[in-house]
Amino acid sequence: MRDVEVPVLIVGGSLVGLSTSLFLGVHGVEHLVVERHRGTAIHPRAAFLMQRTVELFRWSGVEREVVAAAEREFVQNGAIMAAESLGGRELQWFFRNINDGVEDLSPSPRIFVTQIGLEPVLRERSADLGGELRYSSEVASLRADDDGVTALVRDRTSGEEWTVHAQYAVAADGVRSPLRHQLGIGMQGHGTFSDSITIYFRADVRPLLGERNLSVVYVVNPRLQGFFRFSIDGQAGFLVVNTAVDAEGRRTTTVGETANEQDCVRYVREALGAPDLAVEIEDVQRWNAAAEWAERFGAGRVLLAGDSAHVMPPTGGYGGNTGVHDAHNLAWKLAYVLAGHAGPDLLATYEPERLAVSRMTVEQAYTRYVTRLDPGLGTDGLMPLIDDAAIDLGYRYRSDAITPDSSADDGQDWEDPRTPTGRPGFRIPHVPVRRDGTELSTLDLVGTAPALLTGPDGAGWARAGREVAERLGVPLDVHSMGDDAFLAASGIGPDGAVLVRPDGFVAWRSPAAGDEAALGAALARSLGRPSP
Ligand SMILES: Cc1cc2nc3c(=O)[nH]c(=O)nc-3n(C[C@H](O)[C@H](O)[C@H](O)COP(=O)(O)OP(=O)(O)OC[C@H]3O[C@@H](n4cnc5c(N)ncnc54)[C@H](O)[C@@H]3O)c2cc1C
Repeated sequence: MRDVEVPVLIVGGSLVGLSTSLFLGVHGVEHLVVERHRGTAIHPRAAFLMQRTVELFRWSGVEREVVAAAEREFVQNGAIMAAESLGGRELQWFFRNINDGVEDLSPSPRIFVTQIGLEPVLRERSADLGGELRYSSEVASLRADDDGVTALVRDRTSGEEWTVHAQYAVAADGVRSPLRHQLGIGMQGHGTFSDSITIYFRADVRPLLGERNLSVVYVVNPRLQGFFRFSIDGQAGFLVVNTAVDAEGRRTTTVGETANEQDCVRYVREALGAPDLAVEIEDVQRWNAAAEWAERFGAGRVLLAGDSAHVMPPTGGYGGNTGVHDAHNLAWKLAYVLAGHAGPDLLATYEPERLAVSRMTVEQAYTRYVTRLDPGLGTDGLMPLIDDAAIDLGYRYRSDAITPDSSADDGQDWEDPRTPTGRPGFRIPHVPVRRDGTELSTLDLVGTAPALLTGPDGAGWARAGREVAERLGVPLDVHSMGDDAFLAASGIGPDGAVLVRPDGFVAWRSPAAGDEAALGAALARSLGRPSP
């Protein structure tokens, strides 16, 4: 048995484990990913990547490769709609083009790329950055105390066992999350409401698609509720069935328990609206549609991210995106605590920040599920729909690391990113800026260090920022912003300043010149440290 020492152990190397690895790699944090499977995803699953997720891949230097992978798999800018069947009556268009009306909100587009296409890109970049990953290996047991984490890892091929000592562990171990169970962390929310299936099939659907570019087609008719996605050549796809009328004519929410191959062919034909079409079933995956979030996002040195922390129905396409956002929030905090730039209190802000956002997102996915697919679950008490762009780009963090300003708190945990306020706790608004002749975004000015963005007359803030960063021994990037659009979007005047955390969220702002000590206190607070 060997012993390995590494600062961070990531348990699970699927979408969220790989994203955590990538983000830690960008911060230069040594880590090890242990994944039970033999390689990256073999099922498509998540495909609708929201703008914030693509922004995070941009920040990691891999946006171009991710977009190229997307273009190999799908014609981009497709629609999301509901129909009685693919060839039948169209019922509702949720998006005519997924990027309509959101192009100006971000430097990055919404894209469609499956986990099969995406994960190798993340893996390659994270390996380039030094991330270590062991496939066909599982964490068989894990013990954590005040000093660190000790995990027993088993190679599933050779049976060899070895021990990993880490300072922190990230449980990206999916919806069943053995680690969450071990920590005794329960779930809250709406529970499980369908035993669903995903049917992977081959069939020539081109005549039914016609000229339409459809990314997702919800199928809603008296016999079946679910959704389709199709391959770029129109010769294959998958159908998710959440509820259906079974062979005996009974409506069932336990399709996953009962469906055999014959049922699957029938479901695909019914959903296509093509009773005689040749359909070949390639694979069937059974899973539970649920809407829940963990009561805590970790215990001590073990932190939950992704489906281990929250599970939501695929309606809206939020599950994977929310997990990637968890990973990004967590990665910089781990990096700063491990580097000694931040106090351990910073890690305590992970839970309040991500739990509230996850709860809201789970509720939104649930509202979409009930209203689009199964109103029978009951619409009383449903959280009213929030616009997708606000869920993606407009959520708010409230924690000890954020210094509120004097603007009135409306108590709302999201805002419309089309009218950003620049308040602390929100993502820094995207504004196009030119630097050295290159078109960039304000988001590109935030790298791995906190960034102080001052108005053109904010030299006092810049000087104070540099001084206090030196005193605290932490990095700080300082940028003077002449752009009126930036000042308006950030809610500051020419002599104001905004302090942005390395994850792109506003930690503090001063609309005008003011007490420079406040900046020092805010920088320290954003890092979980006492005021200098
Ligand atoms: C049909 C469908 C469509 C979807 N579409 C979208 C979409 O469009 N957009 C979106 O954002 N989301 C979507 N989702 C949700 C998305 O797929 C999930 O939220 C996402 O894959 C979760 O990733 P994860 O890494 O947290 O968990 P998982 O993908 O479940 O990965 C957990 C990993 O941990 C490993 N593991 C577990 N225990 C151990 C252990 N002890 N040791 C080692 N390894 C371990 C497992 O092998 C697994 O690979 C969809 C889901 C479905 C079912």
